[in-house]
Amino acid sequence: QDNRFQAIISHAKEYGFVFPSSEIYDGLSAVYDYGPYGSELKKNIRDYWWKSMTQMHENIVGIDAAIFMHPTTWKASGHVDSFSDPMIDNKDSKKRYRVDHLIEAHADKLKEEGKEDLANSILKKLEELDAKGDLAGLKKLIDDNKIVCSISGTSNWTDIRQFNLMFKTEFGAVASDNPDDNIVYLRPETAQGIFVNFLNVQKTSRLKIPFGIAQTGKAFRNEIVARQFIFRMREFEQMEMQFFIRPGTQKEWYEYWKEERLKWHLSLGIPAEKYRYHNHTKLAHYADAALDIEYEFPIGFKEVEGIHSRTDFDLSQHQKYSGKKLTYFDNELNQHYIPYVIETSIGLDRMFLLILSHAYQEEKWVKEDGKEDSRVVLRIPAKIAPVKLAVLPLVKKDGLPEIARSIITECTPYFKCFYEEKDTIGKRYRRQDAVGTPFCVTVDHQTKEDGTVTIRYRDTMKQERIPVKEIKDKLLDLLIF
Ligand code: ATP
Repeated sequence: QDNRFQAIISHAKEYGFVFPSSEIYDGLSAVYDYGPYGSELKKNIRDYWWKSMTQMHENIVGIDAAIFMHPTTWKASGHVDSFSDPMIDNKDSKKRYRVDHLIEAHADKLKEEGKEDLANSILKKLEELDAKGDLAGLKKLIDDNKIVCSISGTSNWTDIRQFNLMFKTEFGAVASDNPDDNIVYLRPETAQGIFVNFLNVQKTSRLKIPFGIAQTGKAFRNEIVARQFIFRMREFEQMEMQFFIRPGTQKEWYEYWKEERLKWHLSLGIPAEKYRYHNHTKLAHYADAALDIEYEFPIGFKEVEGIHSRTDFDLSQHQKYSGKKLTYFDNELNQHYIPYVIETSIGLDRMFLLILSHAYQEEKWVKEDGKEDSRVVLRIPAKIAPVKLAVLPLVKKDGLPEIARSIITECTPYFKCFYEEKDTIGKRYRRQDAVGTPFCVTVDHQTKEDGTVTIRYRDTMKQERIPVKEIKDKLLDLLIF
């Protein structure tokens, strides 16, 4: 499985999906850039989410809030005081580790050795101590089980400390006696931009509860342990939706969004058995219920999306800290109240990794002549594939390139196309398979006689002839949301 993960990372780089950031300077840990195919795929995933939220639900609208926010926002949200992970430093290697990751890695090792019960009891203890924020207890758990030695071979460690994950920077150029006056944070989640705009949006859009506000955008977390490719990054993008509801209705809306969001994932054609729900027993300070939608990545079942019942915590806090009323008047109930909130929060980069993990296949088969053949194919759902159609003239002469170009001209306004005339058709098909293009059309001499082309389907490699004039509408049918 680890090999498969490494193969996906190499493939993503080789075909222009994902590059390490500033690679000529040896990269920047847990920061990545998206290349030509990657930026198309990422945009298509974002658009697919955005459309499903704001176009397919008449009571959900979008916003695009700034990354910088008034610093009091993060006091009110609880991030200044408690958005932190317990961490520990190795004095010899100077490496910093997240305590929970260290303990989980130890438990994984025990499981591999067949010591399932011991591993589970350690994990249970971790959850208890973590929930209480008991740093001394965590240190004792580590020492008693010789956990740090088992991971790194040495035992020269600092005490455990809380490490805040927010990045700070200075704002403006005004000198101040107190340097803290100029501090702003890079937002660690997009949600707060929605909460502080709650009344602006509700009033200008004249929305009635229940309604939602959706947003996509960058978030920043100074994560301690990285090295999981784009699974855990320091700069990443979130797609979040806050759904504002009447107090007391949170259970039913939580159930609704839990199902609705899984349906969204399955609508991309990803098999249901690759997903599972994970209910949180340890709840964040703002939540009265929370679960993760997990996907079976090559590195195991891991969170891709969180559904959180956030009560009226955020709006109440912002009302308290800003001194501005953030209540809603419900004219059916003839009552003012602070709405409750159900949140759906998914990482765009993590969804991208999910799509690559699902799509990447190395295939081998025996041909009719008895010889072996193989390919690497990205079975990216057609709706979000970076390029939808490749148009390939069989030869570079006899007027075939001109016909191919005219197909491109007709289709390009509707979906992304790609033209290629170099190399054999077989090689060109392989290259399109490797970047996930779902449809290839080949223009040959017969096209000149009867106006048909060969359409070749990426997933089945089946080919059929269709009239040139049907290509655009056929693809539009196959690509519809
Ligand atoms: P984790 O437990 O993996 O750190 P979290 O529970 O802190 O994640 P949330 O705060 O609920 O995550 O964020 C919602 C979503 O944002 C996650 O489900 C994930 O898809 C994405 N996300 C969070 N942190 C990162 C990160 N460092 N890199 C990439 N995506 C992230």
